[in-house]
Amino acid sequence: MNDHEVVDTIIAHISKKFPKKCENCGRVYATIKQYLQDTVHTGKPISYDAEVGDWNPTSPIGSIAMSNCNCGSTLAIDSRGMSLIDVWQLLRWARKETRARNLEIKDLMEDIRNKIDAKILGGDV
Ligand SMILES: [Zn+2]
Repeated sequence: MNDHEVVDTIIAHISKKFPKKCENCGRVYATIKQYLQDTVHTGKPISYDAEVGDWNPTSPIGSIAMSNCNCGSTLAIDSRGMSLIDVWQLLRWARKETRARNLEIKDLMEDIRNKIDAKILGGDV
C-alpha cells in the first residue's frame, strides 16, 4: 500500500459511519466533510494494536480518532467494522512506514489523518 491507497481505504471505512449523531446535543453530522468542518480534533489518532506491538492481530483491539463537537462532547471514529484484511494491510503499511520514516505510530497516524482531512475538505471525494 502507498499513502494514497491508505487514505482511500480509511475514507471508505469512515464513510460508513455517517450520518453520525452526537448523543449529547443531538446534532447530526450528515457527511465526513461536515464532521471535519464542524468538529475539532483532540489528540492524535491511536492504533491500540500497533501501540502494543501486535501488527497482525487475529482479534484487533482497533483504532480510534477523537474530535470535539461544538457542545464540548467527545466524538469518536473507530475501526469497528473494518475487514480483517484491511486492518492487516494497514498495520503492515504502518509498521513499514514507522520504520522507514523513523516515526512514532501516533505521528504516522496524525500524518495520515491530515492527508484524509485535506482530501475530504478539498472536495476531492
Ligand atoms: Zn454535541
